[in-house]
Amino acid sequence: MDIAVIGSGMSGLAAARILKDAGHNITIFEALPGRGMDSHSTEFEGGLIDAPLRVMNPHLWNNTLSLAAYLGIKTFPVRTYMACSWLFEDKTETWLTTTRSRIGNFPIINNRKGIQQYGWRLVKGMLQLKTAIAKFFKSKDQDITLAEFINRNDIEEVFWHGAVMPVLYTICTCNPKTIGEWPAKPLLVFLRQLTDGDALLRIQGGTPALVNKLVEGINIVSGSAITSVKEDGEKVLVANAQGQTTEFDRVVVATPTTKIEEFLNAEQFAEDIALLRKFKFEQGDLVIHTDQTVMPPKRKDWAVLSYMMDRKFTKQQFTVWLNSIEPSLVGKTPVFQTWRPVTPIDPKKIISTVVLTRAVVDSDTVALNKELQLRHKSQNRKVFYCGSWSCDGLPILESAVTSAMHIAEIFGAPLPFVGLKPQVEVAPQLGY
Ligand SMILES: Cc1cc2nc3c(=O)[nH]c(=O)nc-3n(C[C@H](O)[C@H](O)[C@H](O)COP(=O)(O)OP(=O)(O)OC[C@H]3O[C@@H](n4cnc5c(N)ncnc54)[C@H](O)[C@@H]3O)c2cc1C
Repeated sequence: MDIAVIGSGMSGLAAARILKDAGHNITIFEALPGRGMDSHSTEFEGGLIDAPLRVMNPHLWNNTLSLAAYLGIKTFPVRTYMACSWLFEDKTETWLTTTRSRIGNFPIINNRKGIQQYGWRLVKGMLQLKTAIAKFFKSKDQDITLAEFINRNDIEEVFWHGAVMPVLYTICTCNPKTIGEWPAKPLLVFLRQLTDGDALLRIQGGTPALVNKLVEGINIVSGSAITSVKEDGEKVLVANAQGQTTEFDRVVVATPTTKIEEFLNAEQFAEDIALLRKFKFEQGDLVIHTDQTVMPPKRKDWAVLSYMMDRKFTKQQFTVWLNSIEPSLVGKTPVFQTWRPVTPIDPKKIISTVVLTRAVVDSDTVALNKELQLRHKSQNRKVFYCGSWSCDGLPILESAVTSAMHIAEIFGAPLPFVGLKPQVEVAPQLGY
């Protein structure tokens, strides 16, 4: 069949690759110049800045890593130690830095001050969380939000708000208040995996290397947004901003659902639109810069992830120190990505600011997704939807790939990558 894929984020690219390999003719349409998934990546002093920088847990990103392995893409492990600092009116003070113990690979507190001031409360909090998670997974009532989970369990505040919430904030990248409305289960699965201590994985060559393989041999029309999708008898007409209209047998829409009303025919797709409108998204700024004030004041406290927060946990930001996690940036000027900065960043040191749209989930998301998958199965359907938002867990790269696999199922396309293990090679430049 002739199939149009609208959007070249992870979901659109994965759907395109799978359907192409199953023998269909694929055309990808992308509003941005280039490919959506790596459109914000830039070069810095001869190295690569991936924006956003993506990391994957080997147990939770199964499908994404298998797909990468199938495409011959290698990965490397990275250690995501963290440093937490209090933001006072006039100064910043680092109160916690972590590493992992040589024996057992447990997360441990690395700084004396952290041990003196908070040691017992942090250890107590960790034990309380472990017990609460174990109780949760034994209970029958798992359909609760994260806020309900925390209300039902007594967990030390400084541990929960100072050390756990920042980690969740890193993967959810939404407003910290919104995280409370997320279903607790996928977040607790994630936290349980974290304490196992497996290193996270990154892709060799960064996102562009994966995208190159995903689009190999596929026609991609970039820099021109789709403006109309309309069924016409057995075909679907797809028009773009340049006024070109092309006829397809099927269409896979892989954009955030906030975009679909810009192009889906309002009458023909009224029911789809009503459903898709209910999925939620948030936007935030990712600032790429060289301003070192986002890191702990003492260089010895610098870690891959720098969290800054006020003592009441009303303000928080996180920064990734890119040189410590990207081999091509080792030895170059320190460069950072700060998500939703709350401290001023020197405008002269900003390389770029990228506005990113992020799916957020709440207790309705699972039911909405079920309804969407049912709708996909109705007879004579020609237009399908996928995206990281169409998921039962966390809206991440993995959910984007999993949603593309649902599309593959509809088309009867094989999934030869399922079960392949990631190819992991240590990056010697990173020193571990
Ligand atoms: C700061 C941040 C950090 C993150 N870090 C991680 C991480 O470490 N690990 C991880 O797994 N996930 C991470 N994520 C999440 C992950 O990046 C997303 O879940 C995933 O990339 C979404 O893919 P997608 O295909 O669903 O959507 P998108 O990437 O949003 O792709 C949709 C595409 O559709 C295009 N489009 C929109 N409208 C049109 C139109 N009218 N015509 C044509 N094209 C159109 C857009 O330009 C875009 O390219 C992070 C997200 C953020 C915001």
